[in-house]
Amino acid sequence: MLDVKNIEFFEKVDTPFYFYDMDLLRTTVGKVSALSSRYGIDVHYAVKANEEKRILEYISSNGIGADCVSGNEVMHALDCGFPADKVVFAGVGKSDGEIAEAIRADISAFNCESLQEIYIINAMAARLGRRARIAVRINPGVDAHTHRYITTGTYENKFGISDHEFTALADLLRRCRWLDFQGLHFHVGSQITDVRNVFSLVCGRVNSIVSWFEDHGVQVGSINLGGGLGVDYEDPDGQPVPDFETWFRTVDEGIRRRPGQTLHLEPGRSIVAQCGTLVSRVLFVKVGETKNFLILDAGMTDLIRPALYGAYHKIENLSARLRPNLPQSQVYDVVGPVCESSDVWGAGRFLPFSVRGDLMAIRSAGAYGQSMSSRYNMRNLAPAVYSDDMHGARLRTEYFQE
Ligand SMILES: *Cc1c(COP(=O)(O)O)cnc(C)c1O
Repeated sequence: MLDVKNIEFFEKVDTPFYFYDMDLLRTTVGKVSALSSRYGIDVHYAVKANEEKRILEYISSNGIGADCVSGNEVMHALDCGFPADKVVFAGVGKSDGEIAEAIRADISAFNCESLQEIYIINAMAARLGRRARIAVRINPGVDAHTHRYITTGTYENKFGISDHEFTALADLLRRCRWLDFQGLHFHVGSQITDVRNVFSLVCGRVNSIVSWFEDHGVQVGSINLGGGLGVDYEDPDGQPVPDFETWFRTVDEGIRRRPGQTLHLEPGRSIVAQCGTLVSRVLFVKVGETKNFLILDAGMTDLIRPALYGAYHKIENLSARLRPNLPQSQVYDVVGPVCESSDVWGAGRFLPFSVRGDLMAIRSAGAYGQSMSSRYNMRNLAPAVYSDDMHGARLRTEYFQE
């Protein structure tokens, strides 16, 4: 919850910037660590959700591993304190350079997404004279009922190996002498809100897929169910720590674990989304024929989710909280400054009467926000500001006195 102290602090900082509530991050990570030990389920944080060093250092210091999807993420994770034996490397398109680097770093496992990739990693391991551990990502053919761009577990998308290739996969694994096969990996999508139903369905499919491999002489030592736990973008303060409990319990009950078999989860969004806020200012209020626009100094280059997926983020006028006597409900189209029609934060939003200079909070921005930002229009990257540093703020630049 952003309070008056936050607002007073934000007043002193140049916008736009990402504000991270480190107390909320600590509470969230604490919850995940506790459930991880209680259920004996290993957790790897999906680095792509937010790769800020201070955030990664905090997560790694809590015994959580890292799920990476590029060579640079692997190196960055190692740099931020994740031990190599807790780093996994997924992704459909790993380059030769990335594979070689990760073999040399002796990471915990490659999560392989195609037969050809397994073949190539085996060949590269042989050439480097070093064994590599792999898990294989299976496409379970389950629809996570989320946005089509973030559904990854159906047969129509590029991720994982589907059942028509299982026999060839089992053969290939037997022939790859330089690989240690660890187990199977599944990740069906992101922002899953119907956790119990979707994950019960996934667990059922996973159990039968694991049995198929065991029946065909392939030992499955680990089962990794990926990430995907959703967060409440409509009401970020309602349940700031997502319902990890239901997720862990559903998975624990749903997977038939053999003795010695390990179980893994890879949350990204659910760990970091709610601790991040993109803080912006109203540059201009534009009164149109039928609409009023609030033009902010933050745009799609800072947070692309609305433009990319039509994603909803709650928008709050923080300055208006300090002047409660003004009208509390106006309809605005809230937009960014970037030269693209899709640079819209929200159309037809009900907000308090707003004026130039007002501080605006775009909530639940900690995941897939800063990590997806770009420099399109040659815009500056919004920096990170941490709640732990609220005392020592840089003063805001004053360009002219009004
Ligand atoms: C992106 C990703 C995750 C994290 O997904 P969230 O929805 O952010 O929890 C986990 N595993 C893999 C393989 C991913 O690609």
